[in-house]
Amino acid sequence: MQIDWQKTIEEILADRVSCPRCGSLTDDVVAGYTREPWGADYAPRCQFCTRKEDCDARKLVVLCQGCANELGLRVRRVDQETLMTMLLTDCRKDLEECLDYLAEYWQEDLDVPPDETDKRLEEFDPETFGEEDEARRRLEDEYLSYHRWFRERGLRMPDSAWRSEYVEEIIGLGYTTLLGD
Ligand SMILES: [Zn+2]
Ligand SMILES: [Zn+2]
Repeated sequence: MQIDWQKTIEEILADRVSCPRCGSLTDDVVAGYTREPWGADYAPRCQFCTRKEDCDARKLVVLCQGCANELGLRVRRVDQETLMTMLLTDCRKDLEECLDYLAEYWQEDLDVPPDETDKRLEEFDPETFGEEDEARRRLEDEYLSYHRWFRERGLRMPDSAWRSEYVEEIIGLGYTTLLGD
C-alpha cells in the first residue's frame, strides 16, 4: 500500500485547516504526544493504524489549541518544518526498533532455545520475518516521503548522518533497504 504522507501533511497544514476533532477553522495548528487510543484519530502516522480502538503507541497528534486544552494535552504550536521534523524523528525511532528486533530482540521475543541461536529470523520463523519485513518497507517508504519533502523545499535534512548509519547497520545484518546500498 502506497501511503501519501506528504499529501496528508499538506492537508493538515494548509493555510487554514479545520481541526480534525472539532472541525473549527484554525490558523494555529498545535501538536503533542499521547498514548491514549483517542489520539489515533488525530495522529497523521496512525492514519492506517489497524488497531485504532486500542492503539497504545506514542502518537504525535495534531489539533487546534482549544481541543488540546479540553483534552489536557501538552502541545506546542508547529509550522510545517517543525511538524515534518517531529514526524521524521518518530519514523526514525520506529526504524531503529526494527533494526534492534532484527539484530537480536527477536530471539527474546520468540523464546528461541539456546541451541538455535545461530539461526537467522527468516529461518527460525519465516512468517514473523515476513511481517517484520513488510512493516519495515512501509516505514522506509514513509521515510523517503519525508526526505522528498525536505529536498523539494531546499531545506536541510535534520541529522542527515542518521540515514547512512541505518543503511550500514541493516546491510551489516545481511538485509536490503530502500534507503540505500
Ligand atoms: Zn479542535
Ligand atoms: Zn495507531
